Amino acid sequence: MSSSLRFHVVGKAFEKKPVELPESKERPSEYFAKYVFTRQKMQQYLPSSVYEKMCDVIDNGSSLDLATANAVAEGMKQWAMELGATHCTHWFQPLTEGTAEKHDGFVEHDGRGGMVEEFTGKELVQQEPDASSFPSGGIRSTFEARGYSAWDPASPVFVIGDTLMIPTVFISYTGEALDYKAPLKKALHAVNQAATEVARYFYPDVSKVISNLGWEQEYFLVDEGLYAARPDLLMTGRTLMGHDSAKNQQMDDHYFGSIPERVASFMKDLEIQALKLGVPCKTRHNEAAPNQFELAPIFEETNLAVDHNMLLMSLMHRVARHHGFRCLLHEKPFAGINGSGKHCNWSLATNTGIQLHAPGRTPADNLRFLTFIVETLMAVHKHNALLKASIISATNAHRLGGGEAPPTIISSFLGKQISDLLKHLEESDDDELISFAGKQALSLDIPQIPELLLDNTDRNRTSPFAFTGNRFEFRAVGSQSNCAAAMIVLNGAVAEALTNFKERVDRLIAQGVPSMKAILKIVREDIRTSKPIHFEGNGYSEEWRTEAAARGLDVEQSAPLILDAYLRPETVEMFRRMHILSLAELEARLEIKQDTYIKKVQIEARIFGDLCINHIIPVATRYQSQLMDNIHRIREAFPEDEAKAMNADNISLVRQISQHASFITAQTEQLVEARRVANRITSQRERAIAYHDTVVPLLERIRYHVDKLELIVDDELWPLPKYRELLFIR
Ligand code: ADP
Ligand code: MG
Repeated sequence: MSSSLRFHVVGKAFEKKPVELPESKERPSEYFAKYVFTRQKMQQYLPSSVYEKMCDVIDNGSSLDLATANAVAEGMKQWAMELGATHCTHWFQPLTEGTAEKHDGFVEHDGRGGMVEEFTGKELVQQEPDASSFPSGGIRSTFEARGYSAWDPASPVFVIGDTLMIPTVFISYTGEALDYKAPLKKALHAVNQAATEVARYFYPDVSKVISNLGWEQEYFLVDEGLYAARPDLLMTGRTLMGHDSAKNQQMDDHYFGSIPERVASFMKDLEIQALKLGVPCKTRHNEAAPNQFELAPIFEETNLAVDHNMLLMSLMHRVARHHGFRCLLHEKPFAGINGSGKHCNWSLATNTGIQLHAPGRTPADNLRFLTFIVETLMAVHKHNALLKASIISATNAHRLGGGEAPPTIISSFLGKQISDLLKHLEESDDDELISFAGKQALSLDIPQIPELLLDNTDRNRTSPFAFTGNRFEFRAVGSQSNCAAAMIVLNGAVAEALTNFKERVDRLIAQGVPSMKAILKIVREDIRTSKPIHFEGNGYSEEWRTEAAARGLDVEQSAPLILDAYLRPETVEMFRRMHILSLAELEARLEIKQDTYIKKVQIEARIFGDLCINHIIPVATRYQSQLMDNIHRIREAFPEDEAKAMNADNISLVRQISQHASFITAQTEQLVEARRVANRITSQRERAIAYHDTVVPLLERIRYHVDKLELIVDDELWPLPKYRELLFIR
């Protein structure tokens, strides 16, 4: 595409008028959750006995009988119809990307040749979407063919357009999870049980522990017209070729800069729509890379936060198009500048309002704080390889280790205060640390921990799992992934660590050791055990890679090999013991992840090959011919010596083009061959490894030459919008 045409395309996108924002002066507090069947609406639309029953189902997980479900469905239908809904759908999160839905109208025959609007408890509670087109990783062949979706009452239903959306889990008929939500709910249940018991050492009135998640969603926006002219972006979500823009993020002028007007209008529209759907949007800003932005809500209970993130991602795609943009959620849409992550801020809190990962006022609070910090470290230490497996993908692999992204080694940064504290505990002996004055009074020789850990704003940006004052921030999660994958592992692993902790403490208590002393003893033991995961230094350095390996941490960088952690014995044992996933389910999940990896790389390789052969080489050849014509004409018109001098540069250019082009042609053939060889491998794991080891490096190698050609070839001829055009919204 010539540059004039390219700008024409931008212009077209430009002409699109942003969606009209609401005229009214309505405030967010007035329209928040307008389209959500909240408790308040339940109270309004349901008989009071049904409302009470539903609260019990939501809060305590008690079971739902059909009569109650029918009554709830009736109230929901009435509410949804008042908002214009005519359909309903079960909304679930299969192991592909994104969410799935299948709409059914509220209509039913009335028996007299007409129709009535109907929505029953049965339709609310369970549906049977044809499971056969969703990935199940062999579960279907091993078990039962059909799957069904079941209502998750803990996540409220909502209305989008004319459809009542019902959050559900998706499982096979024999009960195996076919989605992210079923194991997530089990992991949350496990961590609730384990953490409640530990919290009760300190606060006997605690009856529930809630896992909280506050995600920060990073994304890029590009002009819709330019996007349409980049087949690679369209098909893979990232640019497979493209030379650096002379200016990108080196001036640090985008981060927290003023938001371009068109983008601000998109953000506003997005926020209003998200707030109406109950997503508590809070923060928006420019990110480090040009055209990169972030949206973060206020944290919520993890189950709901996961649903809200999925909802937000689909809203982002939709709203962006109304503003002449495309939203890119790929972790590395552009080489050479920052990629996008989804930081997952995670913590535990009790139903009595205590933040378990935040320091408190009393010595007991401090010991509780240390317990939860150290047991989290125990979990991350033991399952560092699995945590990495939970966030790795063909796409996130491009991001990790570059820009602001954490490296492919999981470690935890704690900040100076907590590090010093752990060191102090580790080095002192029991009697120095704890003394009992009178019956209850406990004195801990633990330096006072300020309630606000201010110096934790001295962020270590390279740490994948950083403590940030009252929570941990898991930064390695990819921008387009479902955060449930990471949350299943994290909550499950912490549940296991806390269960182990309690067993050991109880053993000491049974031997007559006072409980606080027993806790302190085990905490100190665990500080030592989990020490290798604690790292305050530069995660990018080569020394860290060597040291991390010596510490026994997983330093694997190849995505297919990282995925193997899903079947490590300690993984299988943790998921079995915490009742989260069975071995068969884990095998299925791994199979799907490997398959997805292969397909992603395969698609990239195909589109890349097409672009090289159909776009790049023809254009390079055309430009080469133009140069050759020019050379001949000069030769005809000027004396030999003079012509020679005049042609020197052009001849050199022709040579360079030739060299790059023949490299590209030859290597593209190799790329096809590498795919062919890989495709013949029967073991899926080995096939994924072959794609990683042979196909991916070829893509990189060929790209280098394409990008060089981009610098040489006449801009008028270059067929693809360039980075400098894609990256700066006008
Ligand atoms: P930053 O970019 O500085 O890390 P943001 O304000 O963008 O911070 O996002 C921080 C996220 O962490 C928000 O979603 C916030 O609600 C969430 N958060 C704050 N406190 C907690 C907590 N105790 N547990 C979980 N998430 C939290
Ligand atoms: Mg953050």
